[in-house]
Amino acid sequence: MKAVVTGGAGFIGSHLCDYLTAQGHQVVVLDDLSTGSESNLEQLTGEPDFELVKGSILDKGLVNDLISECDTVFHLAAAVGVHTIVDKPLQSLRTNLHGTETVVEAAARHGARFLVASTSEVYGKNDTDGLTEDADRILGSPLKSRWSYAAAKGLDELVAYVYGQETGLPTVITRFFNIVGPRQTGRYGMVVPRFVGQALAGEPITVYGDGNQRRCFGSVFDIIPAVVRLMDTPAAYNQAVNLGGLEEISIRGLAERVIELTGSTSTIEYVPYEKAYGEGYEDMQRRMPDTTLAGELIDYRPSRRLDDIINSIIEYKQG
Ligand code: UDP
Repeated sequence: MKAVVTGGAGFIGSHLCDYLTAQGHQVVVLDDLSTGSESNLEQLTGEPDFELVKGSILDKGLVNDLISECDTVFHLAAAVGVHTIVDKPLQSLRTNLHGTETVVEAAARHGARFLVASTSEVYGKNDTDGLTEDADRILGSPLKSRWSYAAAKGLDELVAYVYGQETGLPTVITRFFNIVGPRQTGRYGMVVPRFVGQALAGEPITVYGDGNQRRCFGSVFDIIPAVVRLMDTPAAYNQAVNLGGLEEISIRGLAERVIELTGSTSTIEYVPYEKAYGEGYEDMQRRMPDTTLAGELIDYRPSRRLDDIINSIIEYKQG
């Protein structure tokens, strides 16, 4: 395959590039390096089947040129992280809405298979135990920028889906549930690299709210092969597929695990949501995936345990 990976310099994108090139595929990355980093791809620099193009997914001419020469598009570029969405709402909306439309339009024009990375955020405040793909979206006011990521990603899914329906474009929508691993930065909010960084520095671990909110963290190394297999699975086309881990933990429990695994002397500091994200912020209390569909389609069986995932991040941060 000759693949374009948008957002390939990001955390998940760079692991996808590693995997694709190791499988003998040709890869072109399109990334504006706004949140991604060239250092995530340094191991691929100079490889004959790999190229990094610095540019924006909003640049229609560039997107079109790159996709015209490939057969598969993994669209991972997005404004991500709660802090980014809340701090830069307009820029985030532009990237997440127009960017996806630009990329899927080019994929449809050139007949390149298309995968869009979506997110468990699309379920909003639905805290059902084991969210299946047809679970309802429960969002707050459209004028709260906090919900703009969920709203934009929901529209991204729909745009991809409609292109698939109307043009026959092979389209896959993956919904990632709190995927973590080495190379993820805590700069934009992601909790695991933040806690590990704080613990290693001996700083207080900043638990937002009361820490009873729960998440289920998935390993990037479990989801990357799944993403590629889904693209090769026609039964997966034109539907959304959850990908994530299996072990649920409270954020307070996560802070305690990180302190234990790092052997840190850090204490836990409870930070009110208003102080962390600004007035009126609403958090999801719980987000737990049902991955039965991925199991049926591609025999998806996530195997990495939370402690191992945390340890891999500790090792990465210790360099
Ligand atoms: N969180 C926290 N401290 C931090 C960063 C995040 O307690 O320094 C919390 C956040 O409020 C949320 C959970 O950790 O309840 C997961 O946050 P993240 O941004 O990683 O992902 P989300 O599930 O919110 O998309």
